Amino acid sequence: MTQRAVTILGSTGSVGRSTLDLIERAPDRYRVEALTANSRVDALIRQARRFKPRFAAIGDARHRRALEDGLSGTGIAVGAGPSAVREAAQRSADWVMAAIVGAAGLAPTLEAVRRGAVVALANKECLVCAGALFMAQVAAAKATLLPVDSEHNAIFQVFDAERRDGIERIILTASGGPFRTAERAAMADVTPAQAMAHPNWSMGAKISVDSATMMNKGLEVIEAHHLFVLDEGRIDVVVHPQSVVHSLVAYRDGSVLAQLGTPDMRTPIAYCLGWPERIATPSERLNLAKVASLTFEAPDHERFPALALAREALRRGRGAPTLLNAANEVAVAAFLEGRIGFMGIVDVVADVLATVPDPQPATLEDVDTLDAAARRAAASLVDQRSRNSSVA
Ligand code: NAD
Ligand code: MG
Repeated sequence: MTQRAVTILGSTGSVGRSTLDLIERAPDRYRVEALTANSRVDALIRQARRFKPRFAAIGDARHRRALEDGLSGTGIAVGAGPSAVREAAQRSADWVMAAIVGAAGLAPTLEAVRRGAVVALANKECLVCAGALFMAQVAAAKATLLPVDSEHNAIFQVFDAERRDGIERIILTASGGPFRTAERAAMADVTPAQAMAHPNWSMGAKISVDSATMMNKGLEVIEAHHLFVLDEGRIDVVVHPQSVVHSLVAYRDGSVLAQLGTPDMRTPIAYCLGWPERIATPSERLNLAKVASLTFEAPDHERFPALALAREALRRGRGAPTLLNAANEVAVAAFLEGRIGFMGIVDVVADVLATVPDPQPATLEDVDTLDAAARRAAASLVDQRSRNSSVA
């Protein structure tokens, strides 16, 4: 069997580690070309010693020396700084997992796209901040994009792309997060630890907070719009607390097709890793009798305004989704640092959308400019809010 060369961008994160877990179980099928991390240099060293990639890159250049020391004598080439992360993506792996969190993942992921690689896309922020430009590069390079996000992976599995005419709409499921049944008044005081305690999925900090505000579902509506080329009005969201039905496609004859499974990211990752074959995973098998009941409810827009805000940004188009994403990254980081309250996250994003101009980005440089303007505006709103709350 010929080995498939794989690269993992963001190998120390939640999705990155799940990907390596699968690779470790099928050592004959895969060889690791490159691994990258941002600041967790010790974890990267451990992974590199175990998986023996040809190249290991650390995004934060302050850790260059530690990485060199940690891998000396192994023969593994080492790089540091954002250009080294891009270099990792440029190296000739057949398959690249894009699992860096946030807009920081855009440039490296595009390097893999431009080579025409098979790109397993976990990084939804890429599509939110630069969707049209990103998809144009995918088409130009004839890259293969496989969605890792569980909802989009589910849709990809049941979406009859050859007979698009038959598709009426898609339905994204949302768990509702840890505050699905919380009172609005109580939500103002929740701590980062409470926001990160997702009921069904174990994930990185940023996406966990996004799930708690339901901004994650808003980002996913935008992600779905680009991946499946559907208007915002044809992308529904339904809250499904058990996270068993991962998403659905509704056809014009009334049929609705869904993909189901236990909530374990190794299933959608394995779909992408094995594609077009199916590979085995150790994921817990779905036992419907044990699950017993699957429930669905409409999202509550009053307690979770982020979803409507993201939909509005998508309808507005131009640079609005870029602003939404950047402001959200800043606001979530501020919440995690204890600088603003939980409900302040969406307020900051709404303020940025209301005040920062949103011209259509024609180039990736335009995306960077918009992203930077939104980050500056969001940072100053965070400063104001944290000053006001420390006075009060
Ligand atoms: P995480 O925080 O656990 O890991 C993020 C990874 O990105 C780490 O390896 C980190 O070193 C790297 N990174 C962070 N900032 C970087 C930078 N500036 N430059 C280079 N590398 C950087 O995140 P995660 O939960 O694994 O999520 C990764 C992506 O996948 C996110 O876009 C998320 O929305 C998406 N996603 C995650 C899940 C999940 O179950 N965790 C599910 C669906 C989608
Ligand atoms: Mg998801």
